[in-house]
Amino acid sequence: NRRIVLASRPHGAPTPENFRLEEQALPTPAQGEVLLRAVYLSLDPYMRGRMSDGPSYAEPVALGAVMVGATVSRVVASKHEKFAEGDWVLANSGWQDYAISDGSDLMPLGTAPKAPSYALGILGMPGFTAYMGLLDIGKPKEGETLVVAAATGPVGATVGQIAKIKGCRVVGVAGGAEKCRYAVEVQGFDACIDHHAHDFAEQLAQACPQGIDIYYENVGGKVFDAVLPLLNTKARIPVCGLIANYNATALQPGPDRLALLMSTILVKRLTVQGFIIFDDYAPRYPEFNADMQKWLANEQITYREDRVVGLANAPEAFMGLLQGRNFGKLVIQVGPE
Ligand code: NDP
Repeated sequence: NRRIVLASRPHGAPTPENFRLEEQALPTPAQGEVLLRAVYLSLDPYMRGRMSDGPSYAEPVALGAVMVGATVSRVVASKHEKFAEGDWVLANSGWQDYAISDGSDLMPLGTAPKAPSYALGILGMPGFTAYMGLLDIGKPKEGETLVVAAATGPVGATVGQIAKIKGCRVVGVAGGAEKCRYAVEVQGFDACIDHHAHDFAEQLAQACPQGIDIYYENVGGKVFDAVLPLLNTKARIPVCGLIANYNATALQPGPDRLALLMSTILVKRLTVQGFIIFDDYAPRYPEFNADMQKWLANEQITYREDRVVGLANAPEAFMGLLQGRNFGKLVIQVGPE
């Protein structure tokens, strides 16, 4: 049984030394427990937060403990009345091949799910995050302009496509020409701007001739700086993530933007609201699932995975996620289907 543990806490961007691959004997389930074999492991930006022990909405991973993470796993041995050998489940078993569970954290996915890994992406946490943040806080109306960054990732891609269904003009922000082309040609965005471009702020302004009514905040940093002057009166900002800051060890140098931000909130009467998906919206998962199943079946929403094979490659893939090296939802194939 291989597992990847947190070897040390990163200062700034994570490095390979922060992770350690260990081998352990295979655990055996006791009465009321199951043994799980991970097939897919989800890698997500929030894991950077868990590697640090600063104040947060969730407990950090302890030094020497297995890195946390959602998996799609199969039951390989069961002493639990509700689960049988061969069942597929959504689990929280972390960065390892095998794990024991008492069933309380498992969501059954049946015996032959069509696309099991979707439970980690478009039909799971990131898709649900896109749906609730956009619809409950962003409140899109036909004809409005929405801007979202990390536009080809599982949250951003889904936000933009749902906003298109709701009749918005959708402008993505992504890293590089290939991702931008994909957002327009495959995801159906009206425009997508490369945040690496030297004239990024001017290009964004040109793509938003009517200003911005909804800025779905995934990244912060210079993208937020470019968005701020373009916001319309009564604009809404669901604050979902700030990935540009996750590796920061100090405030960015430069002018203090607080006065500008607060006066813009006042004068433009902005709604700025943060949310943590399961803390705030867990009971509304069925509503999301019904809509998303329908949109996928009707091919109104496309979904792209970036699949990396092999548990040992998880640290490298995760470090890449924080720098935009992934293209689509990052999933590690840990074991065979
Ligand atoms: P993605 O798969 O989209 O991966 C993150 C992407 O962020 C990268 O691929 C990169 O895309 C972009 N990025 C990284 N650094 C920067 C930067 N400095 N400036 C601009 N873009 C950057 O991730 P997810 O879709 O899973 O998550 C998107 C956001 O949603 C994250 O901030 C995450 O923390 C947040 N989130 C929040 C939840 C909540 O409950 N509030 C739940 C789930 C996610 P590119 O190359 O295109 O720049």
